[in-house]
Amino acid sequence: MAKEDLECSFCGRKKPETNLLIAGLDAHICDRCIEQAHGIVVEESRQGEARELSSDLMLSKPKTIKAFLDEYIIGQEETKKVMSVAVYNHYKRLLQPDSEDDVEIQKSNIVMVGETGTGKTLMARTIAKMLNVPLAIVDATVLTEAGYVGEDVEGILTRLLQAADYNTEKAQRGIVFIDEIDKIARKSDNPSITRDVSGEGVQQALLKLLEGTTVNVPPKGGRKHPDQKFIEVNTENILFIAGGAFDGIERIISKRLNMQAVGFSASKSEETIERTNLLKYIIPKDLKEFGLIPEIIGRLPALTYMNPLDRSTLRAILTEPKNAIIKQYKKLFEMDDIEFDISEEALDYIVDKAVEYKLGARGLRSLCEAILTDAMFELPESEEDDFTVTREYAEDKLNKSTMSKLKAVS
Ligand code: ADP
Repeated sequence: MAKEDLECSFCGRKKPETNLLIAGLDAHICDRCIEQAHGIVVEESRQGEARELSSDLMLSKPKTIKAFLDEYIIGQEETKKVMSVAVYNHYKRLLQPDSEDDVEIQKSNIVMVGETGTGKTLMARTIAKMLNVPLAIVDATVLTEAGYVGEDVEGILTRLLQAADYNTEKAQRGIVFIDEIDKIARKSDNPSITRDVSGEGVQQALLKLLEGTTVNVPPKGGRKHPDQKFIEVNTENILFIAGGAFDGIERIISKRLNMQAVGFSASKSEETIERTNLLKYIIPKDLKEFGLIPEIIGRLPALTYMNPLDRSTLRAILTEPKNAIIKQYKKLFEMDDIEFDISEEALDYIVDKAVEYKLGARGLRSLCEAILTDAMFELPESEEDDFTVTREYAEDKLNKSTMSKLKAVS
């Protein structure tokens, strides 16, 4: 047969009509059919993954979710419970068959209020890890309204797509963690701001994403421009978790509680209210007072708080979670056949310093690094096969490190 007469066994195109014709045993396939077949393979495997995802999700009851969180996060019991229920309901909503009745389960997006370093991001990360769904972490402070310098809110979805390896199906069931949501609070008391670019406008832009909409997302991020190809992403099944320190919200809570106390039996309420952690009394109205618009608050129906980390929590964070910092160092040394140990007193000392420097949980890691860097530098090429950190050793190393120059923040 003449070369020109060869044809694709799938679509029948003659060789000259194709860019490429590949020969098999007794068949040929053209470039277009290869592309089409590839598309089918990709689509099929995605659907398979989506089905797998659904059956995975069915297994996670709230108590199972909470137990998983317990392995990675110390304390924060109330928040773990609220999270477990919200996540369970969210995915239950996702799995509900097309409803015959008119009951439509609404989204249960979550907002967490708590100081920085109390584990808000960790909470979102752990949930995403458990569900095996993609997670995008974004900082609300970089978001601006369309048309202003900064990142459009669609950028959030670009990140999620990237986290999902551009698998739209997966991205649409993912989690978005919006950090520092408090920083886009309305700043109505500042008369110099004529156009509230970073505040209310962004909240308005976020609204649509939170409630569920279809957005044309620029796959590589950046500003939208006319010749860019977009990926359509539906946010209806994306779980949004917002977090923020809401500095000063305690004052709002306390004011509200005092007002109630005046109205009712003052002395009694005064007694029962724990002064040290007012956050536990937080209600949506406080967020409104702080400057979030009511519509946003309405779309973040699960409101919860993070406790400040006390000494015993910090101490536990060092050694107890599944991937606790100390366990990580143990593993690192083990890879060089060195048995690593650290005394109780040394651990207490690290906690003392973290408290003294007001570094919170984030500081634990930097303190450990400062103490252990020399050993991690020297030991791999030495004859040592064990290494124990005592309090004296920790103190000595820390005193010599730049960290000791940190003044205790008062
Ligand atoms: P936030 O998002 O509230 O600022 P992060 O989640 O980033 O705080 O926490 C900072 C680090 O502190 C985390 O990487 C984690 O190792 C540690 N951490 C904070 N709180 C806890 C906790 N309750 N349990 C275990 N680790 C914690």
